Amino acid sequence: MRYVSTRGLAPELGFADVLLAGLADDGGLYVPTSWPQLATFGPADDYAAVAAAVMLPYVGDDVPKETFETMCRQAYATFGHPAVTPLVQIGPNEWVLELFHGPTLAFKDVALQLVGRLFDYVLAERGQRVTIVGATSGDTGSAAIDAVKHCDNVDIVILYPNGRTSDVQRRQMTTVDSPNVHAIAVDGTFDDCQDLVKAMFADQAFRLQYQLSAVNSINWARIVAQVVYYVWAARSLGNQPVSFSVPTGNFGNVLAGWIARRSGAPIESLVIGSNTNDILTRFVETRAMVNDGVTPTLSPSMDIAVSSNFERLLFEMNGRDGGMTAEQMNRFRAVGRLDVESDQFDAWIAPVFKAACFDDSQTLATIADVYRRTGMLTEPHTAVGIAAARAKGDPGVPIVTLATAHPAKFPDAVERATGIRPPLPPHLADLFERHERTSLLANDLGAVQAFVAGVSRVAVRR
Ligand SMILES: *Cc1c(COP(=O)(O)O)cnc(C)c1O
Repeated sequence: MRYVSTRGLAPELGFADVLLAGLADDGGLYVPTSWPQLATFGPADDYAAVAAAVMLPYVGDDVPKETFETMCRQAYATFGHPAVTPLVQIGPNEWVLELFHGPTLAFKDVALQLVGRLFDYVLAERGQRVTIVGATSGDTGSAAIDAVKHCDNVDIVILYPNGRTSDVQRRQMTTVDSPNVHAIAVDGTFDDCQDLVKAMFADQAFRLQYQLSAVNSINWARIVAQVVYYVWAARSLGNQPVSFSVPTGNFGNVLAGWIARRSGAPIESLVIGSNTNDILTRFVETRAMVNDGVTPTLSPSMDIAVSSNFERLLFEMNGRDGGMTAEQMNRFRAVGRLDVESDQFDAWIAPVFKAACFDDSQTLATIADVYRRTGMLTEPHTAVGIAAARAKGDPGVPIVTLATAHPAKFPDAVERATGIRPPLPPHLADLFERHERTSLLANDLGAVQAFVAGVSRVAVRR
């Protein structure tokens, strides 16, 4: 499979190069040149087998089939549930797909556990190393760290704002006992951390010397790994028409649903659940994407002003015209507003996407209601999804909400809504007894670059 950039100017690449590149050279995102139709599965195929079959057309010849199948098997063996992503019924036609049984209790594990193994394989084949740097407000950092903690060819440096993550989030990063893992507490905010990472990537000499790399949510390999569980859930429900409700931030997860549908999965509607940062809900209602900034909510992983993966769908809506997509994205960046034509909207958005937004009090009310009716504890992101499913589901069509985090990741909100503080699962039960290893650094680019230079093994090889 070959990949092109949504902005039309970057070179066409294969899967392994797209994996390592992340963003395209022209500022666009890589998409495959075609959408392969889904393979068919036997009843005996488990999650790892379905995963390999769904993803292989996208991987192409860059990883041998058997090697890739083994990688899938190892990635999903890290999950704490035999079904990997179990489907749980919570109402007559209402389901929850639990994506949070991975090592760090977030749905991002589903993609990142595989992506870490892909990185290690591709780098070993090429005799290369990389230094992954990233900023986190709490959740993505731990999922990225866990994904690469056994990778010989990767060092990872994650910056988090000192004192501004929860204790669980911090400990999930600082207690990982691997020599290639480095969590840095920055004396600053999450935005400061993000600015430091951007400045390191912008410093071309530094970026090349330490082979900086990222595993953020625009990485194509993460998207394709997320297509799998839509196919898996639809199959579990007998491959009849089914809708999905997706608590949405950067549009990566729901885009994966669109790809599953485009590839032949029997998906009726994709419901976008937003918190009060509702740019996508307003888009589905008004045809205009308008950047209104961000306000903090109980579902922080969805506190996003602009959903970067939407560009991939926009490219399709533009008939794969990279020039037009680049022009729209540049105008959007300049004026904070993007309008799509009504015929485009009617062809691409209206038949598939629905959307609804919920504030914190509605989110807490949904957590309480689900608990009262079913005894199940849910956390705020998932609750937004369930509320959206109930508001916008198609009558008579089963709807599956993607549960994106374990309730124990957001214990304060769960306790506020239900009076019950969800315990950590057994593999993390001793998290508060584990030894922490972290470095406190000033909000200073020189200090952070010196740290990266000191720990990166890319330099040692030179
Ligand atoms: C990242 C995240 C989301 C948002 O997913 P996107 O792919 O960015 O839309 C939702 N819920 C949780 C818990 C997350 O960590």
